[in-house]
Order: sequence, then structure tokens, then C-alpha cells
Amino acid sequence: MRLNDVYKNSSISAKITGIYALCFLALLCVINLAVWFGTSYALYEPAEKTLEYSMKSVQDLLSNLEKDVASFDPNKVREPLVPGVVLRVVDDDGNIFIDTDPTYPSNKIFEECELKDPPHFAADDFDIALIDGRALVYRARMDYFHEGEHVTFYFFRTITSMNHIFDDLIHLLIFLDLLGIIIAIVAGKFISRTILDPITAMTNLARSIAYGKMDGRIPLPPANDELSELAKTFNEMLDRLQGGINRQQKFVSDASHELRTPTAVIAGYIEVLEKYSDDKNLFNESVEAIRSEAQNMKFLLENLLFLARADQCRQKLNKEKFDLSNVIDDVMHKMKKVVTTHEIILSRNDFAEIFGDVTTIRQMLRIFLDNAMKYTPSGGKISVSSKVEGKNIFVEISDTGIGISEENLPKIFNRFFRVDSDNLVRDANGTGLGLSIAKWIADNHGIKISVKSELGKGTTFILKIPVET
Ligand code: ADP
Repeated sequence: MRLNDVYKNSSISAKITGIYALCFLALLCVINLAVWFGTSYALYEPAEKTLEYSMKSVQDLLSNLEKDVASFDPNKVREPLVPGVVLRVVDDDGNIFIDTDPTYPSNKIFEECELKDPPHFAADDFDIALIDGRALVYRARMDYFHEGEHVTFYFFRTITSMNHIFDDLIHLLIFLDLLGIIIAIVAGKFISRTILDPITAMTNLARSIAYGKMDGRIPLPPANDELSELAKTFNEMLDRLQGGINRQQKFVSDASHELRTPTAVIAGYIEVLEKYSDDKNLFNESVEAIRSEAQNMKFLLENLLFLARADQCRQKLNKEKFDLSNVIDDVMHKMKKVVTTHEIILSRNDFAEIFGDVTTIRQMLRIFLDNAMKYTPSGGKISVSSKVEGKNIFVEISDTGIGISEENLPKIFNRFFRVDSDNLVRDANGTGLGLSIAKWIADNHGIKISVKSELGKGTTFILKIPVET
């Protein structure tokens, strides 16, 4: 499996742990390298310096002595040596003239044990040997001619003890690195688990959710971070879904309930027709009742279909710029023609062009006017006025009807809401869907609806419609 596939198929927790451990490892590598370089430098540098210093001092001494050949005493060259540095002077035949520490490994042993591949930090012009596999020895050499004879000055310095420290340090670093990686993996696992707990809770909750089984909610993590925001959003989404399902269930049960009455009435009258088909009056009455109930059902179904289309975003709106005063004029004119029971007044109708769907805007106006008619007893007054103010046109539809109580006012736009029928004027049969449809149309045209009402005095609906400029 390729690394990419492993990464893709791993859980987030494994990814976080892996990335965490890798970063930690990278950091350890940098620290190790720094320690390694630093220690190596500290190990070789002082040894080189003491050898160089000893060489230089011996060289100076030799050049002074040459000026005064009579005083030349080869043993004098021991004096300027830095403590720890061993000097050995050898001629080309291998005869040793000076040896400050005869117990020190011979040149032969040194050359046998000399490292062919000296450590990176060792100076190129010095030799280095690992004697008996333990003692690391540094050697510098210097040629000297005295009275025509060539001798070689060898300067030795042991760096074994420091090398041991270095080895111990490397072992300690490797141990600490392993320990660090284990701690990084354990800590990464723990941290990622803690971080991802709410996500696991979400996954489990999402798995358990089914239609009608949506009461579980994710416990909010105490920290106020992105995950608690996600958990909050998830819970809110569940609330909305639950609300939607509740509304849908209520809608279906309300719709069935509303349809049950007319179907029961129709069925009842059909029975009457079957039994008393000879009675002309009863026949006419039954047919009339069936027609009226069928009409109610048709109206209810049309409203239900409108809202169903609206809920599914399938309700088409062909928006265009049109003259609202024209539409108001037309609706009022038609109403005046058929209504004889109420006084219908159009007190003001300002010219204003709006952008919208003419058919549904007309439907919305009809809903308010029909309600005004339904809930105003005969002889009452229904007046309409439309007035442009700033960038809006305010359309007011007032009636002198039964009014709506303060308690019911916030509910009138709810689907199937109808004020208790005892308080209604006779014949005010409705579906409880008109104002929900009007509200949907208003919302989809940026229209704001406000209502003022007083029981027994009347109701005024005010529509604030944006004017198209
Ligand atoms: P309905 O088909 O019952 O008229 P609506 O959704 O149009 O349904 O109205 C909801 C309820 O609001 C009505 O049942 C009625 O109680 C109340 N209502 C609406 N308009 C008026 C009004 N102009 N005067 C008094 N009550 C009203």
C-alpha cells in the first residue's frame, strides 16, 4: 500500500498522532544534530588547540636555540609542552631522542591502529588512532633539520575520556529519543482522542437518528472552540429537522382532519339521496350541500397544493415590473360589483411600480379582502388605501369586523389556525390557510405585514411593499 493510501485510509486520530509524532521526531533530530555537532566540536577542538599550541611553542624554542647553537639541549623542548601532550622526537632510522612518556604507545602501534577514515571533526593535518579499540589518540607531526640531520617531532594527545563522554551522550540521546517518540505517540493519541470525542459522539448520534427518533443531542464540550461550535450547530440542525418533521406531521393530520368534515357531509347527503330520492326539496338541498362541500374541498386542496409547492420550492413566481395601483383598482372594482352586503371603499390609490409576480400579489390582496368580508358582519365597512412613502408603498386593508384578540394575533399566520368558531360571524367558513399563503407570498416579495386589531371594532392589515425605481 502506498503512503498516500495509508494516509487516506487512516482515521483522523491516527493522522493527528502520526503528524504529532513526526513533528516531535523532527524536533528531536534537530536537537540531536545540534548536540552531536556541539559535543564533537567540544571534543576535538581543545585537543587540537593544545597540540597546535605545544607545536608552536616548541617551534619558537627551537628557532631561538638555533641562534645560540652552543646552548642547544634537546631536552629543553619538553618545557613548553602543554600538560597532557606527549612529545617524541625520532630520526629517520627510528632512533628516539626524546620521549616525554615512554609508556605511551609506540609510533609503530599508532600507525597500525591509525584510523583510515578519521572522524568528520578531526583536523585533516593531524593523525588519529584508536588503540586497543578503546584509547583514541591524536597525533601531530613536525619536521626539523639539525646540523644536516632530519628528525621528526611527534606530539600526542589522548582524547579517550572525552570520547567516552561523547559515546555515553549518544546512547543517552538515543534512549531519550525513543522515550520521546513513545511519549509523543501516547500523548498524540490522548490529545487526538480528547479533541475528537465530540466528533465520535456526533457520528454515534447520527447513526442512531431515524425518522421519529431524533430526541438525542450531543453534550456540548466545555471549551468554547470550533468543536463545541460544530456540536452546537449539529444540535441546532437536529432541532430544525425535528421542528420540520413535527410541522409536517401536524400539517398532514390537520389536512386530513379538514378533509374529513366535507367528505363526511358529502357521504351523509349521498345516503339521504339514496333513501329519499323522491322528495324534491330534500333532493335539491342535498345536491346544494354536496356542491358547497365539494367547492370547499376544492378550495382547501388548492391551498394545500399551493403550500406543498411552496415548501418544496416548486411554487413558480414570474416576477416583473408592474403598476400596483392598476391591480388594486381592478381587484376593488370586481369586488364592488359582486358585494352588496358591505360598503367597499378605495380611499387612496397612489401610482407605484413594484417588482413581483402579478398573479400571486393579486391572490394575496384577495386573501386579505376575503377575510375582511368574512369577519365583518353585513353592513360593515371595508376600506383600502395605498400610499407611497419614500421607497415603499403602504397598502392598508381595514374592516369594521369582529377583530382579533391580542392573544390570537401572533397565531393568525400559522397554518390551519382559526379563531374559535363561537366568536366568528356566521358563514365565515375558511380553511385556516389563507393568511399562511399570504405570508409566504409577502416573504417572497420582501413585503412586511403588520396587523392592528381590536376585538369588536375591526382589523387593519398594513403591507409595506418596496417600490421599484
Ligand atoms: P381562514 O380561512 O380561516 O380565514 P386565514 O388563515 O385566512 O384562515 O385566517 C386565520 C384566522 O385569522 C381566521 O380564522 C380568523 O380567525 C382570523 N382573521 C383573519 N383575518 C381576519 C379579519 N380581517 N378579522 C378578524 N379575524 C381575522
